Amino acid sequence: MVILAVHGGAGGDGPWRGMTDADPQRLNCMRLLLSDLGARLNNGELSALEAVTQAVEAMEDEALFNAGRGSVLDASGAITMDASIMRGEDQAAGAVVGVSKARHPIRIAHQLLEEGWPVMLNGEAADAYGVAKGLEAVEPEWLVTELRRAQWAKWKANKSAPGSTDEDDEAMLDHDGMGTVGAVALDRKGRLAAATSTGGMTGKPDGRIGDTPIIGAGTWADKDVAVSCTGVGEAFIRTCAARSLAAYHTSESLLESGQRVLDEVAPYGGRGGLIAVNASGEVIVPFQTMLMYRGTYVNGAIEVGIGPQTYD
Ligand code: ASP
Repeated sequence: MVILAVHGGAGGDGPWRGMTDADPQRLNCMRLLLSDLGARLNNGELSALEAVTQAVEAMEDEALFNAGRGSVLDASGAITMDASIMRGEDQAAGAVVGVSKARHPIRIAHQLLEEGWPVMLNGEAADAYGVAKGLEAVEPEWLVTELRRAQWAKWKANKSAPGSTDEDDEAMLDHDGMGTVGAVALDRKGRLAAATSTGGMTGKPDGRIGDTPIIGAGTWADKDVAVSCTGVGEAFIRTCAARSLAAYHTSESLLESGQRVLDEVAPYGGRGGLIAVNASGEVIVPFQTMLMYRGTYVNGAIEVGIGPQTYD
């Protein structure tokens, strides 16, 4: 039994309004990576940890997701990215905050996990650590896309709150500001891992840190369960969302635990979703928003979805 599940962010209000022109490309990215990495998990070539790392790297490279190239712009118009990763069997973890020169922030987090200490680095020091370890660095400008510039300009013109422009002009802005990415996996040896990466929220204030790089909030993995969250990060931090799911799952079903976490973040403005897999081979992808980009590979069967429907 092997499982790989991914998300590409949750968001939006009201009923599902159908795909935008850019959505097929997002689905295609998820299908391709699930088929490639799923098969390699299945034949034992990849560990759960390497599978979630490569899944997130593939989504960081897809400019239509809000991670790596194509991340959203902060209040000053710059990109600062957060990422974290955790290995279930020994709860080893790595995280980076506010990096701006890495092609793959998740690979720096992975490197920290492998080295074991420290767990978390921020800003220029995290970027420099990546370079020192031979990981790919890019010009900050390379990370910026026209779509994100347009979203930022609109946010600026409206003097909006961070992330609040979601969905109000799909023709130009697509699913604005969403697209945090994450992955959870169960490998052939029964090992679990989780990873999450994001540019945060459009117009976020300088220095703002969401839940994504915070172990226990946006990402968690232990021997029983692996979790990656997406949504308004502050509420996921305030409820220790990902770790709470693991705690509830000691006495409740995976689905009940996931639903309980989403119910808990809701009163704090924390609309969003999550993906989780357990050691028994169950996988859930609940969300309370209009949509959550998501995909699963379960023993060779691939399913992807955005709104309420899923597709083969
Ligand atoms: N959780 C991310 C953050 O708050 C954003 C998202 O998932 O959409 O930075």
